[in-house]
Amino acid sequence: MARQVMSIGIPREFRAASEPAVNDNAPANLKQRVDDLLQVRVRDLEMPPDIAALYEVRSSKIRRAVMSAWFFWVGTINILLSGFDIFDLAPPALTVTLAARIIISLVCLISGVMLRQGYFIGREKWPVIAMPLLCIAAAGLAGHVSHQPEIAAGYLINALLVVYSVIMFIHIDLKDSKLLASLAMVLIVVSMITEGGGDAAIKSQLFTLYAATAYALLQARRIHNRFQHRLFLINLRDEMNAKETASRNAELSSIAYIDRLTDIPNRRYFDEICHAMSETTKNLMPLSVCMIDIDKFKSLNDHLGHLRGDHCLQVVANTIRNNLRGKTDILIRYGGDEFLLLLPGTDRERALDVAERVLCAITDLQHSNPGSPFGIITASIGVYTHLTHPVSGEVLIEHADTALYRAKSAGRNRVSA
Ligand code: GH3
Ligand code: MG
Repeated sequence: MARQVMSIGIPREFRAASEPAVNDNAPANLKQRVDDLLQVRVRDLEMPPDIAALYEVRSSKIRRAVMSAWFFWVGTINILLSGFDIFDLAPPALTVTLAARIIISLVCLISGVMLRQGYFIGREKWPVIAMPLLCIAAAGLAGHVSHQPEIAAGYLINALLVVYSVIMFIHIDLKDSKLLASLAMVLIVVSMITEGGGDAAIKSQLFTLYAATAYALLQARRIHNRFQHRLFLINLRDEMNAKETASRNAELSSIAYIDRLTDIPNRRYFDEICHAMSETTKNLMPLSVCMIDIDKFKSLNDHLGHLRGDHCLQVVANTIRNNLRGKTDILIRYGGDEFLLLLPGTDRERALDVAERVLCAITDLQHSNPGSPFGIITASIGVYTHLTHPVSGEVLIEHADTALYRAKSAGRNRVSA
């Protein structure tokens, strides 16, 4: 029963109502600014630094996953290509190439694992920039040692593919991609010059081709980034809208299920619980209910006015609530001056104890009620314990009401079962 009652989940929804629509670290006025940014054409889209920072935070996990996959890819192709080197090359070029490939593969493997493990956070770009440069330097060195222009050119193309793959697939800042492309071109010029042999005209043609390809890829990356940013803004807007809707729904639930005067669940909530309970067939625990009705409350209103009457209802509700012990006990304002106490898993004896405790607490308030024979606020309580399940709300109310009637008839200010 306890689990059944808790699983209705209304209190959790009320808590959701008080959650902010976006988290506390979100940039100010985010929703309006995101809406404004989405009005801008994609090619003109520039994210302000705080929203760009949010984008970085949100995309960091996937970015790191792509980076580490990329490191494994570079490491793997270096291992595979070393197989071809063994057939194509003779020492000392073979020695230099194999050594370079082993170093590159190891560095890639270690970097990939470290990225996965959460190292380099905030500094991921540096291993990503360093690796292609290392590949170019190794290619230049191998070309230099081999004295074979076609082999040198082949290595450079391999290393360039690594540079291009960073520009296209790895999400680092565009300015960092430009830095990488520039450094790569400088290194290529240096390795072409130091390589020895080969036709200068062909080399300059090749260099123009490499540089033009890098430039084209950087442009493509710039446009791609803007589309990614727009997609991020659309997702962010949808997320904020969904949170706002959930928060509004929770607020509506709170309005529907909470009594505004006493701030405790109302009769509609009780109906929901009863509906859930009527479908329960497994529960064998007893369920007790106490129907609490303030004595001569009408005359309190008549003598002291409705505002004092309202205040009295709030005080009584608080008093009952403060005297509940079980976490699953539920206090409901059933209507007017009537409260219903649901005590799941509580047998008759313990329910009578709770009712007596509540009754004493109300009397101890010594709240004046001039129209009552007792001169103070008192209550009558009807207790009913249900042992078999499922049970309907009507049955609970009917029996508790009968017990309450007995308490009233017997002179009020008492508990009856
Ligand atoms: P009894 O001992 O038989 O219960 O007598 P009673 O005067 O309490 O009779 P009853 O329970 O029928 O009266 C309930 C009164 O509660 C009637 C109504 O004016 C008053 N009441 C109902 N809701 C509110 C409310 O929200 N605020 C105030 N101030 N009074 C209310
Ligand atoms: Mg009453």
